[in-house]
Amino acid sequence: MPAAETDAPLPAPPPLSEHWALFLDVDGCLLEFEDDPDLVRVPPSLSTQLALIAQRLDGALALVSGRGIAGIDRLFAPARFPAGGLHGVELRGAALPQAEPAAAVEPAAWAAVVADARAWLAAHPRARVEDKGRALALHWRAEPEAEPRVRAFAALALARLPGYRLQPGDCVLELRPDGADKGAAIAAFLAQPPFAGRRPVFAGDDLTDEHGFALVNRRDGISIVVGNRQPTLATHRLADPAAVRRWLQEAA
Ligand SMILES: [Mg+2]
Repeated sequence: MPAAETDAPLPAPPPLSEHWALFLDVDGCLLEFEDDPDLVRVPPSLSTQLALIAQRLDGALALVSGRGIAGIDRLFAPARFPAGGLHGVELRGAALPQAEPAAAVEPAAWAAVVADARAWLAAHPRARVEDKGRALALHWRAEPEAEPRVRAFAALALARLPGYRLQPGDCVLELRPDGADKGAAIAAFLAQPPFAGRRPVFAGDDLTDEHGFALVNRRDGISIVVGNRQPTLATHRLADPAAVRRWLQEAA
């Protein structure tokens, strides 16, 4: 592909259609990042707006996030949407066609890994160890100097977690069960009502969302990258979460 074509800016997505199945990443897509993911808040108007859009789509709206489903529900309460959590490892509202990931870590062993992560990163008080229950996210957004230490720890910890893989992200490295990814999660939703037979549309901002973009592109859907990440498989772009919310607001 000529360079000029590669560098051509991606168009904004078209207005929402009632024939879509809409999949939305949460952090960095619907909501701005905070240094600490626990500080992220959902404006009540956004939950209401998403519920309205879900209604217009006959329920074909799912949140697909690196957070666990319990964490997604806490954010959007009292609204509760079909969801793919932990990058697709957890699903609610669709059955995953493949078996549960083989990863099974004893609670005591998991607690030890989490405790070791906190001890290992004690020298970087603004780095954050996020225990998601079955996944462990190590964030250095607030303290970039912590990155090498995070990477060293993650490599060591991976050896103690059979069936796990490393999931790189934006200022975060995550240890998570191998198996499903966001593409597989979206495919699982699309196999069942109310998602089946609709045109898939997925918006996300991070490396892990590229699995979703690939799947959606294969299904003649619309893939939307949020922010200026490059390279990307996405065919459309929105500048930031505020632009995503404006796009949704027009739809609602
Ligand atoms: Mg994201």
